[in-house]
Amino acid sequence: MVELAKRYTSLQQISRAGEYAGPCPRCGGEDRFHIKDNRFYCRQCYPRGGDVIDLVQLIENVSFREACQILATDLPFFSERQSAHSSRQEKSHHADTLSPIEQTEAFFESARKTVAATNRRLFSADGGAGREYLQQRGLLETTWRTFRLGYGTTFHPLHQRNEPAIFIPWLSADDQRVEALRHRFIDPKLPKQERYSLKPGSHTVIFGLHTLRPAQHLTVVEGEFNCMALHQVGLATVSLGSQTGAQQQATLERLIELLPQYKTVTIWLDDLHQGQRLADRIIKAEPFRKEKVQVLASHSYDANDLLRKAELLAYLASHGITPHTEQL
Ligand SMILES: [Zn+2]
Repeated sequence: MVELAKRYTSLQQISRAGEYAGPCPRCGGEDRFHIKDNRFYCRQCYPRGGDVIDLVQLIENVSFREACQILATDLPFFSERQSAHSSRQEKSHHADTLSPIEQTEAFFESARKTVAATNRRLFSADGGAGREYLQQRGLLETTWRTFRLGYGTTFHPLHQRNEPAIFIPWLSADDQRVEALRHRFIDPKLPKQERYSLKPGSHTVIFGLHTLRPAQHLTVVEGEFNCMALHQVGLATVSLGSQTGAQQQATLERLIELLPQYKTVTIWLDDLHQGQRLADRIIKAEPFRKEKVQVLASHSYDANDLLRKAELLAYLASHGITPHTEQL
């Protein structure tokens, strides 16, 4: 079950007894999804918990029978990952059922269409509420276009109904693929833990890769809106999604691949200790030396808050970070 769930989310072992926790593959968050003794639950969208069939039904949105078929087809793949040939044969014999690779391709295609349609809607007569939300967050139209933001309604997993949201695609570095799609519900009354959901099948590795240009300095943040705010003032910036994203092996590996292109790095997470922990891990990676990695923390204001208050550039300058003004 852990192996199956890890295809949809990143899990950390949290106890010696074999309990795992991480973001929910359906509704996101940071650690609301737990697996123990082949049972899972999500604090937000699936508190009653379930078994492996329930998990497949939840993630793939299929019937009990279809979930059983997926598991029957996929289980040999899970237990014998190394024998790629047999799983490929397996796949051709079950072309009508969902295998891991086909699921991913289906995700790319579905996400690409959703991103295109919601991006058009954001700029259409129906997009007023979305544009107003983004303006209130201090983001300019060029930024919406760069990040290919969208607006529309999508299923809220807790409220069990469609609600208006900003669609935030996580694009690949070459801008060709949507690797993940997050929804930021715009109702201002929503409590913090109900503001985001994740399209099932998303892989949240690093956000903002497609916006990177040659620069001296890289800023690493959590949260897509912080990343967009810093990009808007001219900084090369990526987001790990959340600070727990920094614990994902795939995220750390991709981040370390980026580092040699930059002379200095600032890590700016909400929590100073999490930021320091990430800094310690990347300092181990060549060619970075300790004095080239700076750690900041959001005390009362994060980058997006400071952008809205028109204090972001002054704050950055006070930490020795000066964006290239030609990008402003
Ligand atoms: Zn959930």
